[in-house]
Amino acid sequence: MSTSGCAGESSGGHAGGRTGGRGDGGTGPGPAGARERWVRTGGIELCVAELGDPARPTVLFVHGYPDSKEVWSEVAGRLAERFHVVLYDVRGHGGSTAPEPLRGGFTLEKLTDDFLAVADAVSPDRPVHLVGHDWGSVQSWEFVTVARTEGRIASFTSMSGPSLDHLGLWIRRRAGRPTPRRAGQLLGQGAKSWYVYLLHTPVLPELAWRGPLGKQWPKILRRLEKIPGGAYPTSSLPRDAAHGAWLYRDNVRARLRGPRTDAYAHAPVQLITPTEDAFLSERLYDGLEEWAPGLVRRSLSAKHWIPRTRPDQLASWISDFVTAHEEGADPVRDVGVPGPSGPYAERFGGQLVLVTGAASGIGRATAFAFAEAGARIVAVDRDAEGAARTAELARLIGAPEAWSERTDVGDGRAMEKLAEKVASEYGTVDVLVNNAGIGLSGAFLDTTADDWKQVLDVNLWGVIHGCRLFGKQMAERGQGGHIVNTASAAAFQPSRLLPAYSTSKAAVLMLSECLRAELAGRGIGVSAICPGIVNTGITSTARFAGVSAEDEERLRKKTSRLYGLRDYPPEKVADAVLRAVVRNQAVVPVTPEARGARLLSSIAPRALRAIARVEPPL
Ligand code: NAD
Repeated sequence: MSTSGCAGESSGGHAGGRTGGRGDGGTGPGPAGARERWVRTGGIELCVAELGDPARPTVLFVHGYPDSKEVWSEVAGRLAERFHVVLYDVRGHGGSTAPEPLRGGFTLEKLTDDFLAVADAVSPDRPVHLVGHDWGSVQSWEFVTVARTEGRIASFTSMSGPSLDHLGLWIRRRAGRPTPRRAGQLLGQGAKSWYVYLLHTPVLPELAWRGPLGKQWPKILRRLEKIPGGAYPTSSLPRDAAHGAWLYRDNVRARLRGPRTDAYAHAPVQLITPTEDAFLSERLYDGLEEWAPGLVRRSLSAKHWIPRTRPDQLASWISDFVTAHEEGADPVRDVGVPGPSGPYAERFGGQLVLVTGAASGIGRATAFAFAEAGARIVAVDRDAEGAARTAELARLIGAPEAWSERTDVGDGRAMEKLAEKVASEYGTVDVLVNNAGIGLSGAFLDTTADDWKQVLDVNLWGVIHGCRLFGKQMAERGQGGHIVNTASAAAFQPSRLLPAYSTSKAAVLMLSECLRAELAGRGIGVSAICPGIVNTGITSTARFAGVSAEDEERLRKKTSRLYGLRDYPPEKVADAVLRAVVRNQAVVPVTPEARGARLLSSIAPRALRAIARVEPPL
């Protein structure tokens, strides 16, 4: 960020006298090309940075604790081409001056004055789109629920920071009529709030932040939150954190004791909830629709500091929401897709989902189900045309973005290239579905080494490559994720007909179980989906070992007919896949015959062995 703005001498905007202990030269490098200026409000000078064309809709970012406006630099940079992006240092933080005395200088009323002063300076004629994280969101809830800001806010995107009024009432309701569930929710959030109690103690937090904690904080963020290194946090952190303790002291106790009962949002709200947030329980937002009618919910598998760890995802959601709520906007036309729908929209909206074998059958249905929930899709298949068609339809169904990639999952080098391309062009995959597979039928003694190689290359090595490459990226990102491997009921149901296929699927099942154990500690779930007989194109490409070409064709037709008669749709398997991710299920038999086989394998394996011997008529 330019040093001629708030970090140096005043330039542009207000250039009046500066009082009240301005930042220790502590602003850091924000988004490249930002223009800085001062905005004065009630004796405080706020350091404001702007990017993009001021004629476009203004998106105004408010940072949290302990932070400065630079927490937003990655998100802001991504939005600057489309919007007029504005960031400011909250009073006492970054380049802004601090109130004197500190006590009583950080009340929500004063923070609202600051917001209005900034909004009036940067967008005098049009309401702004507000985005807040952590304490920036707590403040913004105040801004969007008090009467004096009405008409100044076009929309609000909230992340990891509830309204103190809503929180006060949430606690009251649970404490007033306790049930075991409510008591559990209270205790759960109470345990996550340990730092709030600490921040209320006098002097200690200031000493810690200006001493060892301030020094260690960047390392702590990198280790616990997996925040990439670089120019964040900035050198103003110890001062920001020491001053910011007054955000808590000036507001929390008072508001929780006497919450406003009319804190209704007067602008549309989008709530983004990271599901691995160590400081805030997802339950805090139960019933939020009461306060924010038409609330749009999004969740993502991530920890607390999403402005630093998930800037792509946030930029995409903010951009969609702002566009949909610009004056005179037609949400459907302007956002360009129908928008997430169905029961899983909140969970998967905006997530990056990669499906292999996506050109047909279960893979295509799965890609569509995720697309309907608003996920971004990478459709992978060795059939380039089919994959491209899946991506095209996925966009029509609701995926904000969808791409196709032609790759043979059994080719390790090709999979490495795919993983590199996906990481650099689309981002880290949130949900990986290793689904590509081929069928092979025939007696073991008729199955050649080449037959084995073919089936294991796709069905097993394809899954190994996928887990190895994309699983590693997920683990390195450190924000959780999910891997779904398509096994089969054949994984636990032996058959004289399918030795190679069943072996490959049993291996996929065991691989999934082992990997699940390994990745559990990293917040990455692993599920094995085990369908029975599903009506897809697999029968028309399946091979039959040890029979003539003529017989093979006849057997294919016969099997296709049988699968057609059974007529279990791949869409139901897709539903099971999404459910498995949401519930983090380990092994999911789909279809009654798969569930039956799974049950028999544990309670009556001898019966399964007897069935395995049955020789079907040719
Ligand atoms: P399908 O033939 O309709 O789809 C499989 C897709 O995988 C095809 O688009 C194909 O081009 C692709 N594919 C095959 N080899 C590939 C490779 N090397 N690289 C990239 N893509 C490749 O079959 P389906 O029934 O949808 O099968 C999907 C998965 O479900 C498979 O793993 C299969 O074993 C499993 N499954 C299917 C059934 C069933 O009854 N259909 C039952 C249990 C398990």
